[in-house]
Amino acid sequence: MLNIILFGPPGAGKGTQAIKIAEKFNLIHISTGDLLRAEVKAGTDLGNAAKNLMDKGILVSDEIVTGMIDSKIGHNLSAKGFIFDGFPRTLNQAEALDALLAKYNLSITSTLSLEVDEEELYKRISLRGKLSGRVDDQDRHTFLKRMQVYRTETAPLKKYYSDKGILNAVNGIGEIEDIFVALCDEITPKM
Ligand code: ADP
Repeated sequence: MLNIILFGPPGAGKGTQAIKIAEKFNLIHISTGDLLRAEVKAGTDLGNAAKNLMDKGILVSDEIVTGMIDSKIGHNLSAKGFIFDGFPRTLNQAEALDALLAKYNLSITSTLSLEVDEEELYKRISLRGKLSGRVDDQDRHTFLKRMQVYRTETAPLKKYYSDKGILNAVNGIGEIEDIFVALCDEITPKM
């Protein structure tokens, strides 16, 4: 199996690129943000618990997101592989993912880190907020909170994956197609 983590700050383009990669390599795309927003929309207990945190830019509990991932993997064991988008976001989630994959004799093939500076991220998020109506994209204060959460909780995972020798950085600024080609160039040799 080809198991890819698409890593990067909010607005780095993970969702856009994950869809394209999933299509090209025939992988199951797992976005914890999308899964959570679907729960919110459906008005489930889980969604109601998550909504308030998401709107404020705070992470939902590791147990909730790890549970969602567990079920997605368990239901797709005959897939060619997975692309994880927005997960893991904490060291605890990264360790849980390793344990979960190990249970099925699987492991992460590569972690692709999309590198984008903060000014560009803010521009993209503001535009996305206007187009999509996402509450967490619409105000600067929430953006700054998400960046702070990213820096303290998520960015340290770069060391976790580089220590394992599976971190690959890719420039996330430029044309969507050019970035996609650069990501594919990292994936293809690992197949
Ligand atoms: P972005 O990558 O632009 O921040 P996402 O759609 O990935 O957007 O996430 C939106 C929100 O959903 C996060 O701010 C957080 O509240 C919640 N969320 C998504 N993924 C996770 C996760 N792995 N762990 C905890 N919370 C998460």
